[in-house]
Amino acid sequence: MPAEPLRTLYILGAGASKDDNAPLQGDLAGECKNRFIAQDLRYDGWFSRDDHQEIITFLHEHWPDDRYPPMEDIFASILIPDLLRGKKSSNLRIYNKLIYLLGHIIDSLTSGSIESSTTYRFLQSIDINNNREFIDFLSMNWDIFLDHALETLNLRVNYGLSDELLIDTHPLANHQHHVNVCKIHGSFNWMKCMKCKKTFLIHKQKGIFESARNQLTHDHGDEGIDYRFIPDIIPPSYLERFKTSVFTSLMNNAIEMIMRSNNIVIIGYSFPDADVHMRYALLQGLKGRKTSVTIVDPAPRIDRISPFIPAREIHVVAKTFKEYIVDLEIPIDIY
Ligand SMILES: [Zn+2]
Repeated sequence: MPAEPLRTLYILGAGASKDDNAPLQGDLAGECKNRFIAQDLRYDGWFSRDDHQEIITFLHEHWPDDRYPPMEDIFASILIPDLLRGKKSSNLRIYNKLIYLLGHIIDSLTSGSIESSTTYRFLQSIDINNNREFIDFLSMNWDIFLDHALETLNLRVNYGLSDELLIDTHPLANHQHHVNVCKIHGSFNWMKCMKCKKTFLIHKQKGIFESARNQLTHDHGDEGIDYRFIPDIIPPSYLERFKTSVFTSLMNNAIEMIMRSNNIVIIGYSFPDADVHMRYALLQGLKGRKTSVTIVDPAPRIDRISPFIPAREIHVVAKTFKEYIVDLEIPIDIY
């Protein structure tokens, strides 16, 4: 029996969203192209087929053989050349359009029933409603499967950002039954005003952009801005963002979550080289502490993981998220 109550931190990587049909980082660019060919995205004033065409042209110019790197590397190759030259990126336009496109793709994938998603089943299998005080989530993902599933279970998602950094006007905003979720790379439902840089939280209804349009009435008049709001996502290799207050808060929260947990379960996260944020958080948060760490991954890369989780026992569960949940699920009614 443990001397202190079990306090679990679930760290969710792209593998945790894969079972809900979200593409992995390495497949996102290919997905951008596939969806252009399939013509099955619903275009609108925020993102048109011409915008989509512009991205496809950009991808083709840089990777003519269609062998695309992970999306985080694509973001880096858009922004870093200019940043290195010490000027504001002239490629911000394509960068912003790419974020819109990814948002659309995620929107189209999350249109199904959340109750049948792997993420929702996972939350039920850990009985989140009764254990919410002893469980934290640290997500690497931009998608909002987890956020949507928690809201569906009547739990408020506490992103750990002050009202100054993330403005939430939803009636559930002060709901006392909340769950702490740190999204270290930002989130598709954090919509940043391109004019004043304030970020507003939108709540999942039909789709991210549809919700944004319905929920955000922030108005700066006719400023001639292409996109008034843009999802506030933070590519893992985007070093520029280290300077912003949102990012500083997220990093501090992530480290704090790691420090207060005595049981860490890492699901579907492959510790990619580009992700300097998470490596830093783990090194800081685990410094000089003994914590049980479980890795859930069908093809775990212990060589990549062990430098960041030194000298302690790592339990490996070589399973997908979906398979792992089957282990967690116990019959509710045994009579
Ligand atoms: Zn504004």
